[in-house]
Amino acid sequence: MKYLLPCSQCDRQHEVDPTQAGEKIQCGCGQELEIPSLRGLRDLTPVPAALASRGTARPTNDLPRRLTLVVGMLLIAGGLVAGAYGGLVLTQIRVPDRAATVDPTADAAIDELDPADAFRMWTNFRDEGLGPYHVPYRFMAQSAKGYFTRWLLGGLIAVGLGGLLSAGAMLAPRS
Ligand SMILES: [Zn+2]
Repeated sequence: MKYLLPCSQCDRQHEVDPTQAGEKIQCGCGQELEIPSLRGLRDLTPVPAALASRGTARPTNDLPRRLTLVVGMLLIAGGLVAGAYGGLVLTQIRVPDRAATVDPTADAAIDELDPADAFRMWTNFRDEGLGPYHVPYRFMAQSAKGYFTRWLLGGLIAVGLGGLLSAGAMLAPRS
């Protein structure tokens, strides 16, 4: 026969066995409860045999499991969003080939310059510079691609971690 020992701090009821008489258990709320003596146990509400769980009654503290599950689910959700975002942007980025940025007509024009013109052009570049530097689109596309690849990978890792946590929380034996 088992009995229900109510916690003095919260409303939780703990199944206790006469073999536990005099022992102490900890409630999920942190309160330490002393299981009464055999005589005191008889004053408690007996647990109907059909409802009594097998094994000795232990305090039920399901909070860590629930928290793990919530964190796991959040990781999955966040990972899916980040991964989908990174993947979606990645499909939009086109990195042009290097050849496309080379202008063959410009090369040909330089070949046709006579030495005097070539010298004037060189002194002009020397004195004026090549003008403000523009990051070529190809490089921007490449770095953007790297950036969003990290989003995609980070998202996948988060989904994997979240899956492991959730599975662990669901498969772990109830405490
Ligand atoms: Zn309690």
